[in-house]
Amino acid sequence: PAPRRPFIAGNWKMNCNHLEALALVQKLAFALPEKYYDKVEVAVLPPFTDIRSVQTLIDGDKLLMVHGAQDISPHDSGAYTGDVSGAMLAKLSCSYVVVGHSERREIHGEDDALVNAKVHAAIRHGIVPILCVGEGLAVREAGEHVAHCTRQVTAALEKVQSQHAQTLVIAYEPVWAIGTGRVASAADAQEVCASIREAVAAKYGQAIAASVRVLYGGSVKAKNVGEIVAERDVDGALVGGASLDADEFAQLCAIA
Ligand code: PEP
Repeated sequence: PAPRRPFIAGNWKMNCNHLEALALVQKLAFALPEKYYDKVEVAVLPPFTDIRSVQTLIDGDKLLMVHGAQDISPHDSGAYTGDVSGAMLAKLSCSYVVVGHSERREIHGEDDALVNAKVHAAIRHGIVPILCVGEGLAVREAGEHVAHCTRQVTAALEKVQSQHAQTLVIAYEPVWAIGTGRVASAADAQEVCASIREAVAAKYGQAIAASVRVLYGGSVKAKNVGEIVAERDVDGALVGGASLDADEFAQLCAIA
């Protein structure tokens, strides 16, 4: 199989108004020379209200980074006040959408069934889901983290066809490492990312498992990204806090 292209995605969460978004993308464009984009795919994932501005800047200046969204409605249109559909995101050229982030699972009570419906919505509109899974501290301490994460992956991929599974991105984000400054060791990341790939192989076969990109997320910075992405089954990182600093994020992408 073709080698998996390393992938770094910046999840801005609920930060940056549209002017700040433009400034951040411009700074990032200056900070990360074009030659790096051959070796690493770079995505920015701004809030919905910034997507149009970011799209216009990326397209207009032919920037080599891509963009996506942080959430998607499971529905295609209708009476769903406040939601944003896959059709709307596709119209804004979103390449990716985060699905099942732990903050949405926790704060908004999203369960596996809803995460699965959102994965299907993204696929229907030609947007690649970045499916997030990960265990909380209690599950980790009980030694149940691998079972927990592989179960979340299997549930999220219910009735997903193999041709769509092939392009999928899965992010392993231990909840205890998100925004806490506490990063999983490279060996911890490798253990779960490899198990996730095995779960994909069990469902879709080795060839598809070999093409799926599995990322690590949780307090990734320029100083720790190198050892994490050096692991065999870790194909990049989903980056929260550090993606809001253009220089740090550019350095992190260059190292990856
Ligand atoms: C995230 O929320 O996807 C994340 C990894 O956050 P941070 O890098 O800030 O821990």
